[in-house]
Amino acid sequence: MFRATPAENLLQAQERAKIFLVIGIPIMAAYGISALRSGSWFLLALIVVYIVVIGASYVALLRGHHRTWMVRPGMATYAALVLYLVAHSGEEHSHALWFFAFPVVSVMLLPPREGIVWSGLSIAIATAIMLLGGPATGTSAYSAAFAACFAITAILITGGMFWSELALQRYQEETSAQRSAIEADSTRLKAEIARRASLEVDLRVLASTDALTGLINRRAFMDRFAQELLRSQRHGPAPTLLILDIDHFKKINDRHGHPAGDAVLAHLARLLRSSLRNVDLVGRIGGEEFAVVLVETNAETGQPVIDRLLDRIRETTVILADATPLNFTVSIGSTEILWGDTIDTAIQRADEALYTAKNSGRDRHCQR
Ligand code: GH3
Ligand code: MG
Ligand code: MG
Repeated sequence: MFRATPAENLLQAQERAKIFLVIGIPIMAAYGISALRSGSWFLLALIVVYIVVIGASYVALLRGHHRTWMVRPGMATYAALVLYLVAHSGEEHSHALWFFAFPVVSVMLLPPREGIVWSGLSIAIATAIMLLGGPATGTSAYSAAFAACFAITAILITGGMFWSELALQRYQEETSAQRSAIEADSTRLKAEIARRASLEVDLRVLASTDALTGLINRRAFMDRFAQELLRSQRHGPAPTLLILDIDHFKKINDRHGHPAGDAVLAHLARLLRSSLRNVDLVGRIGGEEFAVVLVETNAETGQPVIDRLLDRIRETTVILADATPLNFTVSIGSTEILWGDTIDTAIQRADEALYTAKNSGRDRHCQR
């Protein structure tokens, strides 16, 4: 079962207390003045005590103190006041009618079940005063019919108030349950959105990464290369494109097995990444074919970079799973990006240069 939060309960109690205060205090003040005029000192004292007590209770309630304990003193003085008015009801018992406000206030300001007890007790005492009192005891004289009508009306008011308070409570509980359910749904939804967003990031990385080497794959390389092409053509300086192809890779596979070939590919990928700057693009664009974009590097400044790369590859040794050391070489075709190049024209020139490097003996670099 869901309940209204304590803050909500307090707020509701404050609102209700304010309404009763706004209505009650002026009436009490008027009553006090009339009591002062007629010299009813006891009544005047009761009214003053009542105003002070409920004023203090209201201030305490505003400061966030516990609701029920703040209401009880006011309710007790209020009960004393209305019972006094029943005992001394004046002309045609008009003062006794003030009693009927008591069930309303007690059920609305106290927890409803406690309010019904307060109301029931007060009705019993009031009826007893009416039936048992009289001029002999110094109180007003009531007929039995009046007392019966009075008690029945007061009980009906109490019952009606109690029923409507319960209905309100049930409605508040349902609303609160719905709100909690909506909050839970929204939390779940937010978590799901975050999960999917991170999944999407993972997928995008996965879709653009080559599983064997960890380099970007052909499609991702072409995307980035196209971006770099646009950037350099607008802002300069031009980059240089390299295509590397491992020499006689088929023989490595044939001699040492496919896993050895894979190890060579992974080794070369690491070597490329560690030999080049972070800004340079390095991708695996085919089986044993890699591509590099040396950013802001022309043919002239690219030459020593490529020579150093060829040296490092020539000197590096792959230790295979069976501890066999393996050396390999690559051929490189390169081209400086020209004004008006597209990725296709640039790749075509680099490919032609690679073809020349392969045909003129491999393990070398040609440029177009
Ligand atoms: P060249 O010097 O002319 O480049 O000769 P090559 O043997 O390197 O060229 P070729 O194109 O004849 O052979 C490439 C081989 O690369 C064929 C293919 O089986 C192998 N290969 C492609 N992808 C992979 C891979 O992921 N792992 C391994 N181990 N081998 C691969
Ligand atoms: Mg090849
Ligand atoms: Mg090859």
